[in-house]
Amino acid sequence: MLGLMQQRELLISSFLDYAEAYHPTVEVVSRLRDGALHRIGWGGIAARARKLAKALQRFGLRRGDRVATLAWNTHRHLELFFGVTGSGIVLHTVNPRLFADQLRYILNHADSSVLCFDVEFAPLVADLAPHLPSVHTYVALGHRDELPDHPLPNLVAYEDLLDAEDADFAWPRFDENSASSLCYTSGTTGNPKGVLYSHRSTVLHTLSLMAVDTMAISARETILPCAPLFHVNCWGIPYAAAGTGAKLVLPGSRLDGASLWELLRDEGVTFAAAVPTVWLTLFAWMEQQPGLDPAALKLRRVLSGGTAVPRLVIETLRDRFGATLQQAWGMTELSPLGTVGNLTPRHEALDAEAQMALRLKQGRTIYGIELRVVDEAGTPLPRDGSSVGLVQARGPWVLSGYFKGVGGQAVDADGWFGTGDVGTLDADGFLTITDRAKDVVKSGGEWISSIELENLAVGHPAVREAAVIAARHPRWQERPLLLVTCKDGRSVTRTELLAFLEPKVAKWWLPDDVICVDALPHTATGKVQKAQLRRDYADWLERG
Ligand code: AMP
Repeated sequence: MLGLMQQRELLISSFLDYAEAYHPTVEVVSRLRDGALHRIGWGGIAARARKLAKALQRFGLRRGDRVATLAWNTHRHLELFFGVTGSGIVLHTVNPRLFADQLRYILNHADSSVLCFDVEFAPLVADLAPHLPSVHTYVALGHRDELPDHPLPNLVAYEDLLDAEDADFAWPRFDENSASSLCYTSGTTGNPKGVLYSHRSTVLHTLSLMAVDTMAISARETILPCAPLFHVNCWGIPYAAAGTGAKLVLPGSRLDGASLWELLRDEGVTFAAAVPTVWLTLFAWMEQQPGLDPAALKLRRVLSGGTAVPRLVIETLRDRFGATLQQAWGMTELSPLGTVGNLTPRHEALDAEAQMALRLKQGRTIYGIELRVVDEAGTPLPRDGSSVGLVQARGPWVLSGYFKGVGGQAVDADGWFGTGDVGTLDADGFLTITDRAKDVVKSGGEWISSIELENLAVGHPAVREAAVIAARHPRWQERPLLLVTCKDGRSVTRTELLAFLEPKVAKWWLPDDVICVDALPHTATGKVQKAQLRRDYADWLERG
């Protein structure tokens, strides 16, 4: 027998409708390119998103078409989050830090029709444009007087588009399983893979963010998302902020200590989300500023994910700011949330050191996500906090397959997705990541493909074999370390190899060090044993 409840579609536009109706004056504050702060209420964001929807209709875009963005965290990018998806069009957020080849690949694979970009990316966009046959319109996110000089086909200013429309538009209703947004994740081999979220998956993930034992986003929070809007939809925070009427503080491109401090202090931020590098940068700046009193800030909670959180960050936030750090774990394929570091009353009764041990873990499994660890044969291991295995996830906001099938089979017959992380789960659901099966380096929250660097390194005439591993780094958490063996009778220096790589990769991809070794360890099947290298060299950069 079926229940007799309404089958109302779960659509992203519902969050904005709610914000407009009940929190229209709660502010969204954005740092603009010139450093000035821009203020608008959720009601204003909603009206502008509706104007944007009308402008997109005028472009002839249809449901399922893709609109790409290359933009920082600002109110305009936020409006695209709602105006594009609410229309049934797919928002394709692109990471502007990627290398030109990757950007070309991703934009072409997504077949985006419109590319919206922050004006400062105009030179990059002008270089890309001749290689993007599907893009018919370029939208500069600013006013007409900010339009770049670069020749771009059908270039329009975002503010002109909005000025030409009124806000008389009602969000359409459609199948909740329709695609809403598209993000690419770095593959360990081959090309980036597209993860295509749906309205339903996004709404369910967002509701989870509002739960007290997950991220507890509520109308009581003023949120500073330092995580970029182009990283997995900024962890879903924009949607949850709209759906609760939280105040949002968007830092633009400025994540330096002084700019962050100003926002934390002047906007009364209570909750911030950022990778550890952002906090380390802020702490370093604070050292140079005598007389600052972080305890006077309203900051009470910090969410950090994407990479393991150093103890120093947790302690400094606790002892100097009076703020609790909650570590979260997830990934693009999980929308991204799988765990959040919340303690239960039983854990809060533990002493400080025992609590610290829990905070250093990757977080506690949240409702809505099933997690398990399995051995190499796929047999589930006990949740005893010590059995190490491959982490698998399943749930309504976990992907079922990669966009256009590129990236291989994503899940097994039972729907389990292999995360590529290795770790343990305990009886309370706390996850500890001990290793990463996928050989990528995560520098300040951004991926560097070890395989790509290795392929380039072996292009050097003296190099026989190359292996890149993630070495721990005090500021960036991980940096690439290149190990090479040389062909018989040949040799190469660190300087020569780095000079060889320099023109071939983005500057921040260059390995921090190169070590020439006599031999690399291999598995029985002839693969380089990265796990062994990580054990031997993970602290190489810290050894000084
Ligand atoms: P992304 O798809 O870029 O969000 O990256 C996801 C990957 O980042 C995961 O598979 C993990 O390897 C890593 N990761 C995410 N959160 C954490 C965390 N709290 N601690 C350690 N690694 C993490």
